Amino acid sequence: MKTKRLLLHICCAPDATVAFQKLKERFTVEGYFYNPNIFPETEYRKRLSFARTLARVWDFPLNEGEYDCENWMGLTRGYEKEPEGGQRCRLCIAKNLRRTAVLAKALGFGWYSTSLFTSRMKDLRMIEVIGYRIGREVKISFFYEPFRREGGFDQSVRYSRELGLYRQTYCGCPYSLPLDDSNGQPGSTQVG
Ligand code: SF4
Repeated sequence: MKTKRLLLHICCAPDATVAFQKLKERFTVEGYFYNPNIFPETEYRKRLSFARTLARVWDFPLNEGEYDCENWMGLTRGYEKEPEGGQRCRLCIAKNLRRTAVLAKALGFGWYSTSLFTSRMKDLRMIEVIGYRIGREVKISFFYEPFRREGGFDQSVRYSRELGLYRQTYCGCPYSLPLDDSNGQPGSTQVG
């Protein structure tokens, strides 16, 4: 067992696969599923259940946050039309990382990180800046590694296939849902 302990924010099970495998070489890792941005709740429950599956099969502890989606909607009000990667995402990611950092600190972890670094669609630099800033504010070390690089994303797809993990087709919030002809709402499609 490694002496350094890290709490990994898990955005979804597929992204957590590669992140966990890389991090466990250096840290004792626990997961934290906190994603109030995911909508609707059935989708949230589905992603959570596959995070539980991954934790059980790979034998690591999984901490679970609450589903405070209403609070999230209030936080991002006024930014509904922002493109992905814009200010809404900045607020969303900061909320999830701050909660992870605070819990990590309370539980005595020295480090925290996020599986968002596995996603092909995310702005790595944005997450890195947010992660370090919150780490300084909460007084806990943030671990940055672009898990998706050097074949990391493709490996996450292979792991997901082997383990039968669900891979979603959109990022999570209502504004990232794929275009639905029935209601005419704009959205985007995002995998991993
Ligand atoms: S698109 Fe994704 S990162 Fe951006 S606000 Fe929605 S759930 Fe959060």
